[in-house]
Amino acid sequence: MNEQFVLRQRPVGLPSRDHLELVRSARPELTVQDELLLRTRYLSLDPYMYGRMAATQAYAAPVELGEVIVGEAVSEVLESSSGLYSPGDLVTSRAGWQRYSVAPANTVNRVPDNGLSPTTALGVLGMPGFTAYAAMTAFGRPTAGETVAVAAATGPVGSMAGQLARLAGARVIGVAGGEQKRNLLLEWGFDVALDHRSPYFSARLQAAAPEGIDVYLESVGGAVWQAVLPLLNAHARVPVIGLVSNYNGTSEPAPAGLGERIMRTVLQKRLSLQGFVVGEFPPELWQRFHAELTGWVKDGSIRYQEHLLDDFTRAPEIFVDMLRGNNLGKTIVRV
Ligand code: NDP
Repeated sequence: MNEQFVLRQRPVGLPSRDHLELVRSARPELTVQDELLLRTRYLSLDPYMYGRMAATQAYAAPVELGEVIVGEAVSEVLESSSGLYSPGDLVTSRAGWQRYSVAPANTVNRVPDNGLSPTTALGVLGMPGFTAYAAMTAFGRPTAGETVAVAAATGPVGSMAGQLARLAGARVIGVAGGEQKRNLLLEWGFDVALDHRSPYFSARLQAAAPEGIDVYLESVGGAVWQAVLPLLNAHARVPVIGLVSNYNGTSEPAPAGLGERIMRTVLQKRLSLQGFVVGEFPPELWQRFHAELTGWVKDGSIRYQEHLLDDFTRAPEIFVDMLRGNNLGKTIVRV
């Protein structure tokens, strides 16, 4: 039998079982040439899925009611009607939140045989790692001596962005929730690690950036962004990739006049803000990312953490925990 999570209602605020329902159905079968029957081995849970459930992303089609929740997975080929793959091969696919799926062979990618865990294809060497690489190399472009701040810094995007900035010679401030995450950042070589839940966060950020901030990778919005804004230097770059605090209801209502304050700062400091959607980058950049980063991940120059959990039937709760910050590293469900 197949088990799938389908969307029953669009969430407003965090999703629950009222919105995501586990349904059972017959295992799918191959019907045409060049298809693969896949068994999901590892399912990636990512913040963007919230936008697909709530239909709040202008740049991507929402999941429709009754449809399986979208998501990347490492899957094992069970049956193949394609010459490209054989049973037993491991591939990354857009399988979604389900145990079995059928995919055209030309829509999957072989998991690289690089000596690393296949789960790295969903995190440090997958879509999240690539997002950080693309945003930092194409736009953030930190240089030696600059100060870089990164939010959600122990997650797969933030950790890659911060470490790339360190390797470029920048001084890096990592922002994360709680002592355990702060310690991990220091172990990974971040120059400063700050807990955004501390009542002293804003003052500590100011003290940690005496020469201001040149690059801020914006992934959370809310209070962290408001603390960073006055510290941005002239000509600072702000790649905007996500706003997690808006997805999980943890951001306070924005103070009156915030919009004007942001626009005034953009003008006075000649800031550059640019939104990024990972799917818009050319495949050549993806190939360059793998060519440059695989060695660094293997030799430990880039460190990473995976939050690997076992129970697929608890995927909605694991997803909500990730949005709330109760994860340490890339959230993956072993199916
Ligand atoms: P993470 O695994 O880092 O999980 C999200 C983290 O957000 C939580 O662990 C939590 O970490 C942090 N967080 C939650 N609420 C708040 C808050 N109010 N203030 C500060 N931090 C908060 O996620 P990813 O690394 O997978 O993704 C990071 C960001 O990158 C997301 O915004 C995501 O949407 C975006 N992204 C964008 C892409 C694009 O194409 N534009 C592609 C991929 C990702 P903590 O405990 O440290 O607070």
